[in-house]
Amino acid sequence: MDTDEIVYDYTRQDASGASCTAHAWAKVPAALPPAEREAAKARIAELLKARDAVLVAHYYVDGDLQDLALATGGIVADSLEMARFGRDHAAKTLVVAGVRFMGESAKILSPDKRVLMPDLDATCSLDLGCPADEFAAFCDAHPDREVVVYANTSAAVKARADWMVTSSCALAIVEHLKNQGRKILWAPDRHLGRYIQEQTGADMLMWNGACIVHDEFKGLELDLLKREHPGAMVLVHPESPASVVAQADVVGSTSQLLNAVIRGDAPAYIVATDNGILHRMRQLAPGKTLIEAPTAGNSATCKSCAHCPWMAMNALQGVLACLEHGAGEITVPEPTRAQALGCIERMLDFVQRHPAAVAKPAQGFVPNVGVA
Ligand code: SF4
Repeated sequence: MDTDEIVYDYTRQDASGASCTAHAWAKVPAALPPAEREAAKARIAELLKARDAVLVAHYYVDGDLQDLALATGGIVADSLEMARFGRDHAAKTLVVAGVRFMGESAKILSPDKRVLMPDLDATCSLDLGCPADEFAAFCDAHPDREVVVYANTSAAVKARADWMVTSSCALAIVEHLKNQGRKILWAPDRHLGRYIQEQTGADMLMWNGACIVHDEFKGLELDLLKREHPGAMVLVHPESPASVVAQADVVGSTSQLLNAVIRGDAPAYIVATDNGILHRMRQLAPGKTLIEAPTAGNSATCKSCAHCPWMAMNALQGVLACLEHGAGEITVPEPTRAQALGCIERMLDFVQRHPAAVAKPAQGFVPNVGVA
């Protein structure tokens, strides 16, 4: 296997720029007082109807937005299901509460719909760490490889890819390609890539990006925490470091981890993914003890403390601005949109033909579960 690596470190970003986490945290809107919050929710529900719009939210965003999405006929889901739902829904406008690549994917799949986002600066360290021009040069240098990119990339990067994958289906798609004898160029998450490579034995050349949230989970501190909770099941998203994944009872996407809590028979769960998902876990698995996996301790860096600053930029105020003024409209220019469509459609077609591939976590036994 080739060992070429391109290293990007988000901390090198300009501290005054929209790409810096400090800038992102500074843009997180203040929580509204209870009465204003209820008024905002009621107004959003009215406007969604009046504007023929639907709210599509990720598991990591604010609990109010998740509840509102469900109460108004929208969805709370992982990025795979968000993309499918937005494409298939009849509404003329999609309000996507998540990060930019999710809004772009919605627009790529539904060019005739208006796609709005609460804050267009809400990005992702994986997207930031994979600039399209340098990625294109990387691909050009390895023309013999099938280009597989994670959903967490820009439309321009997807335009260069053969396949897009999400963490729900990445393992199954890489396995499929390996069985066809294909060599793979993988980008951008190094931890997810390494995990898939280990599981499948595929020949994968990796880009070297990371998610700032999952990258901070600590194997040493997780080991100590497990000793304090010996009956707890450990649930890990595969964007986490190898030392954390190695201790998991279940490795999977957000939907797969959520289902593991719902279906599992353990009384307690240590959860190594963005803590925004605990809101939905508490709703769907009441009575079970949920413990955040450690980002702190002796080896702490804690730039995110298990919550994504860009996901946190999504708030009721931003959704109101979308619906009242049409703020935050996503555009994806042609021909980039048309070029990026191919790799997303290839993935959606694959998961439609292989539904079992996304219905179970990559590691760990959770019986009879579907994608939440
Ligand atoms: S949690 Fe990580 S992968 Fe998800 S949007 Fe934030 S930085 Fe990107």
